[in-house]
Amino acid sequence: MPALDEFLRKKLAALDEQHARRLLHTDTSLDPVTIERDGKRYVSFASNNYLGLTHHPDVIAAGTIALQKYGAGGGASRLVTGNHPLYEETEALLANMKNAEKALIFGSGYMAHGGLIPALVGKGDLIVLDEFSHASMIDAAKLSGAALLRFSHNNPDDLENTLKTYRKKYTHCLIATETVFSMDGDLAPLDSLQTLATTYNCWLLTDEAHTLLLPPVRGKAGMGVGLSSYSETVEAPTPSAGAAPPTLPLKGEGNIIRLGTLSKAIGAYGGYVLGSETLIDYLITAARPFIFTTSLPPAVLATAKAALEVIQKNPGLCAKPLEHARYFCELAGLPPAQSAIVPLILGGNEKALRASDTLKENGFLVPAIRPPTVPKGTARLRFSFSAAHEKADIARLAALVKV
Ligand SMILES: *Cc1c(COP(=O)(O)O)cnc(C)c1O
Repeated sequence: MPALDEFLRKKLAALDEQHARRLLHTDTSLDPVTIERDGKRYVSFASNNYLGLTHHPDVIAAGTIALQKYGAGGGASRLVTGNHPLYEETEALLANMKNAEKALIFGSGYMAHGGLIPALVGKGDLIVLDEFSHASMIDAAKLSGAALLRFSHNNPDDLENTLKTYRKKYTHCLIATETVFSMDGDLAPLDSLQTLATTYNCWLLTDEAHTLLLPPVRGKAGMGVGLSSYSETVEAPTPSAGAAPPTLPLKGEGNIIRLGTLSKAIGAYGGYVLGSETLIDYLITAARPFIFTTSLPPAVLATAKAALEVIQKNPGLCAKPLEHARYFCELAGLPPAQSAIVPLILGGNEKALRASDTLKENGFLVPAIRPPTVPKGTARLRFSFSAAHEKADIARLAALVKV
């Protein structure tokens, strides 16, 4: 047996050879879009702080007050003494804004998947994931012990073929997708997935980590709407006269479970599940990453709640990131953005790293995303747009990217 470090040095050398090693940098956010790294300042197109709420004065004030009043840490799990009233307040607000019956906050989005999926399915059940699904979904699916299959990205026909062949061999079946794909910025065909879930007697899990909190009721209040508007994707269409009739009751969650994070557009930390009251009641007892972890610090919940209130008071805010992404695409000669995330696929790892370095030399932070985060041969630059970006910076960046 080689000594541990010797074994690991070989592993690292192999990663270096493939330009696949990941390195940590020390980054200080000076404002929502300015990062200081190694003594230099950059305009960042790298974070998921889509609404710039990390530094909003109301959010900072709420966090500061909560920190002074309630101290630094939660002290225990939610089921022991960590269930601060801010949990219930934030959950109620979130459920209301997302038009869900109930919300349950977890330690993070990663943990929410890890709690939810194994609580729903296990041995003898089936999970069918979009092939581009986030690692947190894949890890949770593996943890559950259910059989795991993937369907081609955003391809309901492929999903249907999979269900036709395999659904009847398993007891329960969970279909899962992202609403806005984290590395591609495209939107899932939610209405088709929902129809297939109904037809094949499956549950549907949608991961809304990269959606923004557009007003949930985009149809007539009190009437049902299809999942695609229900899930308020970044550019949820505004139903006009003559639009397709609504297909789903708004709050009756049916077979749909939604999941998201407080750490991206909301600018704080934590994850959540949205669903029926019965689902939430069950998760409190059945989701291990809910039970066996310490509660979030009250100040974190206070910042999340304050951020949600800022969004409620500024209905135009959530439209800004897409507007900025579209502006960038237009100037850079790229196809119109579908969300706040714009990929520029370059292929090889080294090429993506070099492009990222060039932008950095010009004052911009844009990450090179490599396998295994994305499929082999599709290393890319991933631009993410924030309401807080200045148009002049977007234009300068687009000029560098334009081919
Ligand atoms: C970031 C992300 C998560 C995890 O959320 P965290 O709160 O950061 O743990 C889950 N799903 C998707 C699609 C994500 O992009």
